[in-house]
Amino acid sequence: MRNLFSRLQGRVKTRVKREIIRHHRRRGSVLFSDTTLRDGEQMPGATLEPDDKVRIAMALDELGVHSLDAGFPASSEADCEAIRKMAKVVKRPVVTALCRTLPADIDAAEDALQERVRHKRGVSLFCGTSPLHRKDKLQKDKAAVLKLIVDAVCYATERFEIVACSPEDASRTELDFLCEVYREVIDAGVSTIGFPDTVGVMTPDKVRDTLRYIHDNVPNIDKALFAVHFHNDLGCAVANTLEGILEGANVVQCTVNGIGERAGNTSLEEVAVAMSLHPELYGPAERIDLTQLVPICRMVSELTGVPLPINKPVAGQTVFATEAGIHQDGLLKNPDTYLPFRPEHVGADRIELVLGRHSGRRAVEHRLTELGLQLDESHVTAVLEAIKSQPKGTYVNDERLRAIVSDVTTREG
Ligand code: MN
Repeated sequence: MRNLFSRLQGRVKTRVKREIIRHHRRRGSVLFSDTTLRDGEQMPGATLEPDDKVRIAMALDELGVHSLDAGFPASSEADCEAIRKMAKVVKRPVVTALCRTLPADIDAAEDALQERVRHKRGVSLFCGTSPLHRKDKLQKDKAAVLKLIVDAVCYATERFEIVACSPEDASRTELDFLCEVYREVIDAGVSTIGFPDTVGVMTPDKVRDTLRYIHDNVPNIDKALFAVHFHNDLGCAVANTLEGILEGANVVQCTVNGIGERAGNTSLEEVAVAMSLHPELYGPAERIDLTQLVPICRMVSELTGVPLPINKPVAGQTVFATEAGIHQDGLLKNPDTYLPFRPEHVGADRIELVLGRHSGRRAVEHRLTELGLQLDESHVTAVLEAIKSQPKGTYVNDERLRAIVSDVTTREG
């Protein structure tokens, strides 16, 4: 009797799950799955203390990510502690834990996530499927690898409602075998299948061809969500992710600032902003509050100790700064002349007109007025000349500008 009841209960749950998946697929919105706290933290030197992870997780919750890859419970006690803490405080996102296809890993995830409600927790299973991983890492043939994966999925679906499964090194796996793995794990009840480009070898055209092949050869693909996960070894992670969206990816896995293994992962802020500029192409980014992007980029940089390159798209220091006279003049007339988007769009401070050798008269006059310094035309010319004669690479901050003004005006009486 109990057996029959639990089987019925299982069937109802499966139907509810299928409905949720269909709902997300129908809406066509793209869900952000953040892996800053797992893949991002794997970057050498980016190790985070559990309390720092909690701060970032709360900021990601506010930002509006759909799920959080919170860590790898089997890897360390610190990971377990961080996952337990996050599971308690994070509100909206699904919190997932990474597991190998081993019952012990799934048990560890269950233990770390036990305080979280069932529909807000999940496991993310991975197992290498490429010839390299099968032969040199796992020493198993295709059939044995497939059995290992399906057995783990069955074990996981008995314990979790949300189960994602990613064939590791998918981008270097034979396409027919990859599709076979997807078909089997969907039949075994996963909610999400992942396509990890584990070593970052894909280019946008490759993504298009591969994803089309998968969609054509996995007949049950609409019963699960499709997630893409790119690494930036060729500098193509964001472009690949956008192409993935065009080819039907429902979930994009990203990290803040693109931190992660080797050359890093897909940068969350870059994908979100690209989507916001071209919604007709990529559809809406589910719930992402773009104005929180720059603050979270800075927070992650500060807590991980991984500096932001000054020209990092979206959050870098020079993204809204210019020294060039023509650009400064245009920006003063209308900021959109020389910007793809305004600072307030992504929560950045303001446009900065840097005064230096390349600056023009308009920007100098503008800054002088902002500082309340009224100068006649000849004095402005003298100030501009003084700025242009500064040594290479020096910028005139407000203090220096005041000194130049005082010098010019006293010199000429
Ligand atoms: Mn990865």
